[in-house]
Amino acid sequence: MKTKILKINSQKIEPSKIKKAAAVIKKGGLVAFPTETVYGLGADAFNPQAVAKIFAVKKRPLNDPLIVHIAEKKDIFKVAKEVNKIAYRLIEKFWPGPLTLVLEKSSLLPEIVTTGLDTVGLRMPSHPVALSLIREAKTPLAAPSANLFGKPSPTTARHVWEDLKDKIDLILDAGKTEIGLESTILDLTRRPFSLLRLGGISLEELRKIIPEVKLCKGEKVVSPGMFRCHYSPRAKVMVVEEGKHQIEKVKELAHKFSRKGKKIGIMVKEEDKSKYEKFRIKVLGKGDDFATCAGNLFSLLREFDNEGVDLIIVEGIREKGLGRAIMERLRKAQGI
Ligand code: AMP
Ligand code: MG
Repeated sequence: MKTKILKINSQKIEPSKIKKAAAVIKKGGLVAFPTETVYGLGADAFNPQAVAKIFAVKKRPLNDPLIVHIAEKKDIFKVAKEVNKIAYRLIEKFWPGPLTLVLEKSSLLPEIVTTGLDTVGLRMPSHPVALSLIREAKTPLAAPSANLFGKPSPTTARHVWEDLKDKIDLILDAGKTEIGLESTILDLTRRPFSLLRLGGISLEELRKIIPEVKLCKGEKVVSPGMFRCHYSPRAKVMVVEEGKHQIEKVKELAHKFSRKGKKIGIMVKEEDKSKYEKFRIKVLGKGDDFATCAGNLFSLLREFDNEGVDLIIVEGIREKGLGRAIMERLRKAQGI
């Protein structure tokens, strides 16, 4: 199969392009499309054969459930059975946006979407291209990130192309995604409500609505897809936590592994970029500008890989707001 790429302007969406993409979905094909978080790989959530193709092309394990995307609040009940009060408050505040809610699943939704679970992850993206596509396809889209399983999520159409070219029908290319990290996932089916994944909505923002929300850290992994080593580039990743002597520690590691003949890449904060003259560095962003850091993270991991780096040493950032989600991704890339 030859993958087509259609460039699309989010500010001035050409209906003919959306119609083409929706026709692919209606025929049971796969379309990669931009969301405000990362690029998604969409199929008609009510077509089990189409959904099966998502698992096949991504090489995604069959116990890693997919998130369902809708464009209208009223479509919640096509996919979920019950929506409690707290869900309504969160939806009111954060949708459309990067918050996925895990709810009881409707019996009409094919089992393959949720890999047999009786719950479903559901969200309404805010990206105008995503919303137009879902509306035109007239069906909720099952859509995980449009990358090969385990690779950093795609924040550009090029990343999708690198991973999935000629395995999917179409890529809608609307440029770099705004947030660059996946959605935050909150499980509302068990108490205490727990955060299964940190992402575009921070813990602090959620706590304003549900003060008792728990981070799953250290507990048994409840979300089947939360495998270690997710988001890994090919290169090994080592993170040096923020704090005293961070630069010295990074340099020490860089020297040690250079001496062993390894090709080293260093991901640094803007304010430290002049401290590493001899090394191959890439700038994540100012240490306190979490939005910029989030937007660059996955791209930089991929760039280092494309340059054949063996080891990426990363200057860690502060664990606050989006910074917490960034550090979570980096730890997973380290395999911790
Ligand atoms: P992705 O869309 O590739 O970023 O990944 C979707 C992730 O959402 C999965 O890996 C799971 O961790 C999580 N997820 C989706 N549906 C459920 C569910 N019903 N219960 C728990 N976690 C879910
Ligand atoms: Mg993914």
